[in-house]
Amino acid sequence: MDHNSIISVENLTKKFPTGDRDFAALKDVNLKFSQGEFAGLVGPSGSGKTTLLNIIGSLDSPTEGKVSVMNKDISSLSHKESAHLRNLHLGFIFQVYNLLPIYTVFENVEFSLLLQKRTAAERKKAVMEALEWVGLQSFANKKPAKLSGGEGQRVAIARAMVKRPAIVLADEPTANLDAANAHIVMKTMKKLNSELKTTFLFATHDEKVMSYLDRMIRLEDGRVAEDEHVEHKKEVL
Ligand code: ADP
Ligand code: MG
Repeated sequence: MDHNSIISVENLTKKFPTGDRDFAALKDVNLKFSQGEFAGLVGPSGSGKTTLLNIIGSLDSPTEGKVSVMNKDISSLSHKESAHLRNLHLGFIFQVYNLLPIYTVFENVEFSLLLQKRTAAERKKAVMEALEWVGLQSFANKKPAKLSGGEGQRVAIARAMVKRPAIVLADEPTANLDAANAHIVMKTMKKLNSELKTTFLFATHDEKVMSYLDRMIRLEDGRVAEDEHVEHKKEVL
């Protein structure tokens, strides 16, 4: 096992049963990520980005190969251990951010902390800090229906970040946003990446997201076609 990698994917193949024969959505994928990376899986629709992100996040399982997250072989984990890894160390951000409409912004962000043993005062401090990271402290008592799309996605970032996870997995986080909000959301995540050393892994086909990435992994038909480190473009930071 490679102890320097926060995520390690070895010879990963994922097959889905379709009719009379299996369809391979991922084919012999090998990737390693270090702590603090700001990396993205890019490539056309259907290339396997979401499937790979879901397997790394223990939301789906490999058919063949080995995936380690924080030095734990995820297929060796019990249901409880797997939930523990997700609850403590992983944050998820999706295209559809699914805030719970009957709860306030504060309560939506607080939710993931309820799974951890923290006092109400500790939770309040963590939630308000997370809302400050995304510039939405004054929205704490608002209901999601009062938010714009960009604000909603920033609340989703606060919700993912509030437990200070080691890794954030973000699947097409800008897909429902206009250009201005997409840039605000990306800048917010890049800042958190720099300040907290959180590892970010994106799945995206949005050029705007790509312009922020330090590393781009291009998937084509379930294979890694390209894996390149990108020179920092100062103007976007
Ligand atoms: P991307 O996120 O790059 O658009 P996906 O990972 O969602 O791609 O899908 C990769 C391929 O796997 C697609 O051809 C898709 O139809 C197929 N696929 C994804 N999930 C399933 C599933 N649960 N059952 C069958 N096929 C699937
Ligand atoms: Mg996808």
